[in-house]
Amino acid sequence: MSQAGKTLFDTIWNDHRVNDAPAPDGGPDTLYIDLHLIHEVTSPQAFSILRDRGMKLRHPNQTMATMDHSTPSTPPRPDGTYVIENPDAEIQLTALESNCSEFGVPLYPLGHENQGIVHVTAPELGLVQPGMTIVCGDSHTSTHGAFGALAFGIGTSQVAHVFATQCLLAKRPKTFEIRIDGALQPGVSAKDVILSVISQIGTEAGTGHVFEYTGSAIRAMSMEERMTVTNMSIEGGATAGLIQPDEVTFDYLQGRDFAPQGPDFDEAVADWRSRFQPADGVYDRCVSFNADEMEPMITYGTNPGMGMPVRDTVPDPADLENKSDRLSFQRALDYMRVEPGKPLLGHPVDVVFVGSCTNSRLSDLRDAAGLMDGRKVNDGVRMLVVPGSRKVKAAAELEGLDQIFLRAGAEWREPGCSMCLAMNGDKIEPGQLSVSTSNRNFEGRQGKRGRTVLASPLTAAACAVTGVITDVREMM
Ligand code: SF4
Repeated sequence: MSQAGKTLFDTIWNDHRVNDAPAPDGGPDTLYIDLHLIHEVTSPQAFSILRDRGMKLRHPNQTMATMDHSTPSTPPRPDGTYVIENPDAEIQLTALESNCSEFGVPLYPLGHENQGIVHVTAPELGLVQPGMTIVCGDSHTSTHGAFGALAFGIGTSQVAHVFATQCLLAKRPKTFEIRIDGALQPGVSAKDVILSVISQIGTEAGTGHVFEYTGSAIRAMSMEERMTVTNMSIEGGATAGLIQPDEVTFDYLQGRDFAPQGPDFDEAVADWRSRFQPADGVYDRCVSFNADEMEPMITYGTNPGMGMPVRDTVPDPADLENKSDRLSFQRALDYMRVEPGKPLLGHPVDVVFVGSCTNSRLSDLRDAAGLMDGRKVNDGVRMLVVPGSRKVKAAAELEGLDQIFLRAGAEWREPGCSMCLAMNGDKIEPGQLSVSTSNRNFEGRQGKRGRTVLASPLTAAACAVTGVITDVREMM
């Protein structure tokens, strides 16, 4: 099929629009949804809506459930059961189990070999494939766009709607090309790329748009690196983030549990290749970056757009024209206890968290372990390493990464969201500063009055060793 005049987004949207013609007057189209991912936090109310109306799931087998947000990261008891200290978390986990059983939804519960953060486990199982539409009651569903799938977060009532109909009413977003050419320098990772992009375009630039990441730097990335980039599309305000599928995508998918197998896989690849050729459509907006100029990044404020190269000085709110912008910027600096015009380098660190759906995959753990091998976590720093899934944990242990972290004095934990949002009891104390590989540095995100600095796994590991904000390039 020719892709003349279409972007990747156009192709996927048009393929999934159920209504014959686009909705008039910018109204919502009805989209068919190929895959619905659910977890314990946003699904209970949606199941209740179905139950109250006497309805069933339209396609339970196009739905996948796992447990991640509230799961403990401490090891199980000898009998295999887990200590869940928070009663609300226990209620959520139990409810998911009974809801999935009642409605026939495949579930990977706590302790199952396929359990993990939904955005880590679905791709590694091969459930996420090019050209799909994918939704989940979670904003970082954008992660799956790395495969050339249109994937975005939805609200609770929309979760119920997809349960009942396998369709979703959605207004067609605009397209925004984020082009990144060039080659990343040593010490600069995919996380630095996306933090750099968001620090330059802001957290609202993508509102009403889908990002499409293009350029030689994106093409050179592995699937895990691409997922780190698309994961944070939402932090740039976008509905979703897309990357055109290519040989890297197909190689990653081959042999995965839910990917087509044998001759079916060859047929699927031929189909993906023909349907998703490089786009020749026109984007509504475009912006370009040079990867050669990017540096290791850190955030200094309370949103992911407040980021800078690690050696820079904190910007001065006085430079902002708008008074309310100046006030909110100053408030963020006050919260973070950082001063304009001064660097963050050398700033003391209390906690280092390596994990989350942004940076908890095997390559992330390899990056951090590679830097920590033969080194120690600095006295006074607590370092948690939380694999994104049970499969990642097993693979890391097979390589001995767990032993590197343990020898260094870090905590090697069970998979889940953990300290990304501190719902499971893993949290920082008031006033503590955490260097985190997660995606959000909002006030209190990792614990009440806690302060979060976002960074790559490499930078996080360097900070754990030195005990202060560090330029990882000095240790490589
Ligand atoms: S790791 Fe964090 S951002 Fe990702 S799904 Fe879990 S809570 Fe959300």
